[in-house]
Parts: sequence; C-alpha cells; structure tokens
Amino acid sequence: MSLDSRIARLDVFAVTIPQDTTYLGSLGPGEQVNSAGYFVRTGNRTIYPATMRSAVVRVTLDSGEEGWGETYGLVAPGVIHALLLDIVQPIIAGRSPFDVQAIWEDLYDLMRVRGYVGGFWLDALAAVDIALWDLMGKLTGLPLHQLLGGKHRDRIPAYVSGLPAPSIPEKVALAKSFVDKGYNAIKIAASVSYDGVEREIAALRDGLGPDIALMLDCHWMYTPAEAIALLDRLAPYNLYFLEAPCKPEDVTGLADIAAHATVPIAAGEEWRTVYDARSRLEARAVSIVQPEMGHTGVTQFMRMAHLTQGHHAKVIPHATIGAGIFAAASLHASAAVLNLPYHEFQHSIFPHSAKLMDGRLECAEGYFALPEGPGLGITPNAVFWENAQRLG
Ligand code: MG
Repeated sequence: MSLDSRIARLDVFAVTIPQDTTYLGSLGPGEQVNSAGYFVRTGNRTIYPATMRSAVVRVTLDSGEEGWGETYGLVAPGVIHALLLDIVQPIIAGRSPFDVQAIWEDLYDLMRVRGYVGGFWLDALAAVDIALWDLMGKLTGLPLHQLLGGKHRDRIPAYVSGLPAPSIPEKVALAKSFVDKGYNAIKIAASVSYDGVEREIAALRDGLGPDIALMLDCHWMYTPAEAIALLDRLAPYNLYFLEAPCKPEDVTGLADIAAHATVPIAAGEEWRTVYDARSRLEARAVSIVQPEMGHTGVTQFMRMAHLTQGHHAKVIPHATIGAGIFAAASLHASAAVLNLPYHEFQHSIFPHSAKLMDGRLECAEGYFALPEGPGLGITPNAVFWENAQRLG
C-alpha cells in the first residue's frame, strides 16, 4: 500500500436491498406498481421503485486498494453507470485519491455551464467522492471522521423516521415501541398520513407525552399559505421541526414560512451542493439543514455543514435507501460536525443495509454507533454480492 497510489479504474453496480416493508408503508389508494417496477406516491407525486436499490461504485487504485462509494440508484441506476464510465473514469484515471476536493471541482466544472448542477450528474460525483475519501482512509489507516478534522461525539443520536402502520392507534403503538427501546424523537410524513396530519400529530403527542420530539415531514406538499395555516393548527403539539413544507424551488415561500413559524424549518434532502444551501441560509428560509450523503458526497456534505455552522443553524442529516456505504460515510461526517443534534434513522431500511456490509453499522437504544476502522470502516460482504448486479 503506497500513499502514491493512483486511480486505475471504476466499476459500477446496482444493488438490491432486501426489505420486509414497503418504503413509507404499504401502497395507498390508487397506487400501483407499473411495468418498469415503479409506483408513484399520490401524496407527493414522487416516483419510487417497488424494490429498494442503490448504485455503488468501486474505485480501484494501481496498488490494488479498493474504495467504495454509493449514490441514489432508486430510479434508472444505469444513468449513474453511463456518467461514471463515459465521463468520469477517463478524467480521474492516474490521479491521487488525496486530490479528492480538487477532483470534485474539476468534475463539477465539466458540466457546470451546461446546466448540470444537480440531479444524476451530482449523484455520480457523490459516489466517486465517497470512494476517494474511503481510499484516503485506507491508505493512511485513519477513519473518515479523523480525516474530516476529528469527532465531536462517539455515537450519533438517532430520530425514528416514519411509522409504517395502517391506522393512527397502530402508529402510536409503533411509536411507543421505539420510545421503549430508548428513542426520544419521531418523525411522520404528511404524504402517507391518510387520516390527517393534525389527528396523527395530536394522537402521538397525547400517547407519547410532552418529552418526545415530534417532527413532521411535509414532502413539499403545501403552498406557503397552507403551510403557515397548518403550523398554526399544530402549535399546541410543539413540533421539533417542520420539514419541506413547500416546493423545493420556492425559496421565497420557504422564507415566508420560516418568518412566520415558531418552530424550526428543515430542508435539504434534495440539495447537492453548498450553493443550494447558501441561497436558503442567506434567505433565512431554514434553520435546520438536512444533507443527504448519497446526493452530496463527503466533500459537499462537509461544506454544507460548515456553512450551516457559519449561519448558527443546525445540521440533521437525511437518510435514504442505500446498501450501507453512504450511510457509513454520513455517520462519520456527522461525528465531525459540531452543531448536529440528530441523524435520521430509517428503521425500515438501515438494519437491512447493515446486513450487506462487514463492519459496525448499528443503531440501537436511540443512537447510531460510529463505524470503526480505516476509511468508511465497512466493506461489502457476501450478502451484498448476492444482491449486486454489475452494470456495463
Ligand atoms: Mg424528508
């Protein structure tokens, strides 16, 4: 193993994550899986695959060392493969993984003025970025959090995301079961709140008492006026935050909601870069930033986090569907961010992702463990390979 090792090749895989619950709960009225394996949630008009999956990249150095990265592969993972093999691999071959931030800027500039400043292109960059950080850790023998300047905590507080149960009493019972296991914060999603958000929040507050943090993810469903009215109606229940109340493009509307709100407004899971964070923070549209490692990679995650600290706001990272690789990166990065009270815990996903990785990937009694060992501290295992399909 040499610090002078150079990038030799990329390989891209689509990975299926075995599951026992449909993401966000069972299909709602009028929702059905189409011939390509997708369905559309009517609540937020967003497409989801019937099978959980992600896109994984392996970066191999000329010394043989392998680094692992991952991004969204929920829809059309072949696009990630095409971008990485056609554009990225020839550009970064021969370079050092220690040039990770320069490489990110070089790749971003390739497509910037063509308007590719988000979406699949930035997802592809996130996957490579995570793999290069993993390689830096493996070459130096240091865990990622130490490469990022050091950890502020040994474990990451987790909030429970989603209560996939068919009725309000069953949702309250599910929430209580998590409280009994040591969790003190729970989020529900308005897009699958078929009996009404207010009834659900009221029942949870009544059932869980005053000391449990309750969060509401609005999945971008409301106009600013509707969101402000909703906040007024929810005032008695003391939300910890209100997430994504209006359309992602409506920065002014989000700022209007934040100006009215007496609870923090959270957003950021769809952002890719520090530029996305900057416009919202400067507009005082958010006081909680929710970076998604699968979209940002380590480099942009940390830049968003530092900018957020500069605005005296908080970081509460998003957690999405993955094979455990960007989840591990997100936990390392979260340990290295000061102003971070929670990390999202997708209880219907994370335990399944963890089965695909060797290494410590655990969430129990209200906390994520910090993976141990060089780089990300995790490696794909035999279960991963049973569920991986090489693209190309
Ligand atoms: Mg969300």
